[in-house]
Amino acid sequence: MVKVYIDPGHGGTDPGAVANGLKEKDLTLKIAKYTRDYLQDNYKGVSIKMSRTGDTYPSLTQRTNEANAWGADAFVSIHINAGGGTGYEDYIYNGGVSSDTHKLQSAIHNEVAPLFSTNRGKRVKNLAVVRQSKMPAVLTENGFIDTKKDADFLKSNANLKKIGQAHAKGIANYFGLKKKTSGNNAPSGTYTVKKGDTLWSIATDNGLTVKKLKDLNGLKSDTIHPGDKLTLSGSKKPSKPASKPKPSNSGKHGKLKIINVNNAAIVMDKPDRNNSKNLGTVKKGATLPLNGSVRGKNSSSGYWEVNFNGRLGYITGKFGKKV
Ligand SMILES: [Zn+2]
Repeated sequence: MVKVYIDPGHGGTDPGAVANGLKEKDLTLKIAKYTRDYLQDNYKGVSIKMSRTGDTYPSLTQRTNEANAWGADAFVSIHINAGGGTGYEDYIYNGGVSSDTHKLQSAIHNEVAPLFSTNRGKRVKNLAVVRQSKMPAVLTENGFIDTKKDADFLKSNANLKKIGQAHAKGIANYFGLKKKTSGNNAPSGTYTVKKGDTLWSIATDNGLTVKKLKDLNGLKSDTIHPGDKLTLSGSKKPSKPASKPKPSNSGKHGKLKIINVNNAAIVMDKPDRNNSKNLGTVKKGATLPLNGSVRGKNSSSGYWEVNFNGRLGYITGKFGKKV
């Protein structure tokens, strides 16, 4: 578990810089919360503490003392710049710092700086919070509150969210945090087959019999392949042949007719246009047994799941129509 200390600059009696109807303390708190939420929602193995979650003012020393006592692995202080200028810059202590400190700065810089039209660089300065922190510490200055262009950018919550998420991605990249997976209980009721899985292991993990699992997915053999998507739920949701097919929940759905291609549609072994093996092709106008549809990867129109020569195959959504 890595410990990340996030410090929204200023707060309470200290508004920070104020201009263009904005207060630095409000913006830093919003960005910090977006950073925290994105880390918590998307990554495993991370624990987060914030110097403040409301409009209060812990002193700078209180903040660094808390991070040091907690044993934080990284300290990230979020600020908005002022004094006339534009763009993004970040700071580490201008004394002796570890190579990890430089790595943390670069990781955050690489994600956040591209959000701004001007990159003012990776900088060093004798700032209290980066000096007093015992762990790698970075302070970011996210645009100038007193420059109209930057202030207009910071007035949008969507932009503050992007800035927060970019901080989170930078922190995650620095630590090499693993993404959370949706797991077996994905709302779509589908399971992506992993290496080493068997029909039996998937069935028992999900409270199904092998027969039920095979019926749900129209499987004739016991062979499954990593990357295959299996339907786990037997509830009957209407399956509309929309441009974005939804995962199907019952075994068979009539027939799929091949449309919108010059000659023939490719049948793939996985619902992933860029990383699948071609099983063969089906001529335009031809039909084949349809199991349903899945989201998959690299196709905005999803994929149709069909029976192709006795096994599961996938056809890009826009190349088929349920008939
Ligand atoms: Zn500040």
